[in-house]
Amino acid sequence: MQEKNIDDIWNKRPFIVSGPCSAETEEQVLQTAQQLSKINNINIFRAGIWKPRTRPGQFEGVGPTALEWLSKVKEYTGLLTTTEVATAKHIDDALKNNIDIIWIGARTTANPFSVQEIADSLKGIDIPVMIKNPINPDLDLWIGAVERIAKSGINKIALIHRGFSSYGNTKYRNAPMWHLAIEMKRRYPSLIFICDPSHICGKRETIQSIAQTSINLGYDGLMIETHISPDKALSDANQQITPSDLEKLLRNLIWRNENIDNEDLFNTIEKMRQQINHIDDELMGMLSIRMKIVDEIGQYKKQNDITILQTNRWNEILERAYKRCETLGLSKEFITKYFDAIHMESIHHQNKIMNS
Ligand code: PEP
Ligand code: MN
Repeated sequence: MQEKNIDDIWNKRPFIVSGPCSAETEEQVLQTAQQLSKINNINIFRAGIWKPRTRPGQFEGVGPTALEWLSKVKEYTGLLTTTEVATAKHIDDALKNNIDIIWIGARTTANPFSVQEIADSLKGIDIPVMIKNPINPDLDLWIGAVERIAKSGINKIALIHRGFSSYGNTKYRNAPMWHLAIEMKRRYPSLIFICDPSHICGKRETIQSIAQTSINLGYDGLMIETHISPDKALSDANQQITPSDLEKLLRNLIWRNENIDNEDLFNTIEKMRQQINHIDDELMGMLSIRMKIVDEIGQYKKQNDITILQTNRWNEILERAYKRCETLGLSKEFITKYFDAIHMESIHHQNKIMNS
């Protein structure tokens, strides 16, 4: 089978990576790859070989044996192959077996020692690297990993948003925290940016909707875990789907374009954006006036030894806002965050006054 070309694929959208969470048997790997290779737009086959498990005693991957299976995937289907690496030894093994792309997992991105070890062993080597967000919601660790890998001379870097671990999180396995991903995308506009809804969701049912949200935000593509018998998978069974379900999912996705090519449409949107700019200016002006009054109250509190935090007053502000927000089309969740931010800033202002 004619092997695909990495440069073509790197510049092609959508950028879709799929395959099992873990390579388990040669048959499972080859059958999954055969089925995926028939689906439009899938060019890259993933499979975990060394699995970083949170607790010992779980399936930790089959190790280097599976590298031969991935070579066969390439030979039989033409798909490019990718696997997760965490150490210099993994990289050495992967390169010897002609893996096309490597990826750094969420637990590894969180560890600068490991990322540096990977970066050092990539010096002088030309291989694309995909970097997952760190497991904890710390953008600097993600940025640091990009900087380390870029410094080692790697020029094809992709970012994978796989969500962030948070305590007591029930709806998602890893909360998407879209604002962090959006900020990362803003900082690195030229890097490929893809979403991994499998690890965000942790279960099949919500993958389609998270995938669509990411496409609505202008992501370049997706990494989605697939398995020929998902329920029997040795890792991440609840979130894997069959290749044929992936095909349906991709068919139901509505792809969106970040560029607005149509001039009329652009002008219409531009006019509305001007209105938004005016409103934003006014909102900031009003906030500034609000803070001046807050400062004045701060002086009175200081002179009369009154605490900054007045719980009853804070409850009253929230209750007033909650009464009005729904009729204004503003959700209670948003209004809570908005007033929290304003209240914290007001406390900060008054604290400065008290300490001056
Ligand atoms: C994986 O892709 O199977 C994996 C282990 O992912 P993450 O590093 O995002 O947990
Ligand atoms: Mn997985």
